[in-house]
Amino acid sequence: MNATILIVEDEARSAKWLKTYLERAGFCAEIAYDGQTGLNIARRINPDLILLDLMLPVLSGTEVCRILRKESDVPIIMLTARGSMEDRINGLDGGADDYIVKPFEPEEVIVRIKAVLRRTMGTMKKKLTCGPISIEEEKETVFIGEQPISLSHVQFAIFLVFIKNPGVVLTRGQIIEQAFDNDFDAYERAIDTHIRRLRKLIHRNGFEPIQTVYGGGYKLVCASL
Ligand code: CA
Repeated sequence: MNATILIVEDEARSAKWLKTYLERAGFCAEIAYDGQTGLNIARRINPDLILLDLMLPVLSGTEVCRILRKESDVPIIMLTARGSMEDRINGLDGGADDYIVKPFEPEEVIVRIKAVLRRTMGTMKKKLTCGPISIEEEKETVFIGEQPISLSHVQFAIFLVFIKNPGVVLTRGQIIEQAFDNDFDAYERAIDTHIRRLRKLIHRNGFEPIQTVYGGGYKLVCASL
């Protein structure tokens, strides 16, 4: 899926030039020519990243950034004509993820966009949740509400498949394929043993999210505690 970039820039020529370069690099791009329109379009299309000019009519880039930050985690790169320290601090204070000083080369913009997207997608991965369940991938830990539950490596690999596919019926074969790239030297039924242990760790009274689907496999149902 191509990432959608919203360009908020009042100078029509640079906006169109940027759009062309972004599209050549494989992104989808939309343009807004003032701050208020930028805000409206951002709310409507939910872009993957916003290139936000600092000096804009109607609403300034800094104001747009502050408003957006209260509403979403969308990555924002500020475009600033001046390279002063003050602008940089204002931009980053307002919640921007990065800033680029004009004039810039299109290649630089592409590199910075990719870097910010990589970084923010990394943190999104850490935020995988399902109802009251959340996970921390590095620590191979599952949280039920605030309560941490340590899993073994194999248990965590299996649980990761569930939380990435909430509500989806997963056959034992699919679980093995996604959790271990098929590199699992056991019978499909061994999955049942792991899931039994997972349930012991995760399930509690009135909260049994790992459900058996007869003739199908298993699914994770995200209900509240
Ligand atoms: Ca401008």
